[in-house]
Amino acid sequence: MAYPREILEQSRAELAARRQRSAEARAARRAQVARRVPEALALEREIASTSARLAQAVLSGEDVGAKVDEIRRFNLSSQQKLRSLLALHGFAPDALESIPSCAACRDTGVAGGQTCDCVRQLRRALMYDRLGASAPVDTYGFDRFELRWYPEQAGGSSQVSPRAIMTKTFSECLRYAKTFSIGSPSLLLTGGPGLGKTHLSLSIAHTVIERGFDVLYVPFLTLLGRLEAARFGRGGEEYADSLQAPLSCELLILDDLGSEFSTSFSTSVLYDILNSRQLAGFASVISTNLSEQELKARYGERIHSRLFGGCRVLPFLGEDIRLQKIYAR
Ligand SMILES: [Zn+2]
Repeated sequence: MAYPREILEQSRAELAARRQRSAEARAARRAQVARRVPEALALEREIASTSARLAQAVLSGEDVGAKVDEIRRFNLSSQQKLRSLLALHGFAPDALESIPSCAACRDTGVAGGQTCDCVRQLRRALMYDRLGASAPVDTYGFDRFELRWYPEQAGGSSQVSPRAIMTKTFSECLRYAKTFSIGSPSLLLTGGPGLGKTHLSLSIAHTVIERGFDVLYVPFLTLLGRLEAARFGRGGEEYADSLQAPLSCELLILDDLGSEFSTSFSTSVLYDILNSRQLAGFASVISTNLSEQELKARYGERIHSRLFGGCRVLPFLGEDIRLQKIYAR
């Protein structure tokens, strides 16, 4: 599970900031102790010098046993004295020490030769921030998806029960998110507006990030805007940078395909993304309001075959839920 470069850099910077903060807090506490209990610092210096004497005694090799014991006893009792002295003046017993935010790795990011849990947590939080920057993630989640909005009965344009179809679509999305791994297939979520495609896309994003994968969620229109701006920026470099994440993330969630104004640029961007990701073995979850015929007419045969040949198609049926909620008020 590889995180994108910017997330790794941000998490490294955050660890450095945590170390800096704890060093500053320690310096501030020591300055306070120096003002109010100067004898505590003197005692600390004494302990440090006995530690040096202990090391010397071990090195000298003569009559070691007794001497070491004596120094050690003195040291322990001095430490005890120091702690009670600090406590007596209202300081924490470890006020002179550095207190890291993570005791397991002391804010180095590594504990027991492994990436510390605090770093994993931090990276997930950064991924959520990135997701939150493009969507209101708080309101989404599998547990907030309500099947009651989908009609039980077939009727109108639908020959089958929308709720039956949506029950299946919902459980497929949930299972997909919970079992996602590199090499998982791509999904194409199709159906009219207001049927919960964005809701389930974001729920997938949420769960797959939670499981530690590098997920990028972006509406296709937003991505195109960024790429178009980058084309006129610092030449090809910025354009390549903007395309980097959509091409190399472990799961790309491309929302609302078809809402953009179609141009040869948008079609070639879409083809490049679908094709490169398919070749690299990376999955995408694509949602669209367009029907199969509309997709084919708009993007042509090559893209049509990548969408319908390379994705598992999950239909969304029912009545626009946003409208239903407005009428229900
Ligand atoms: Zn840690």
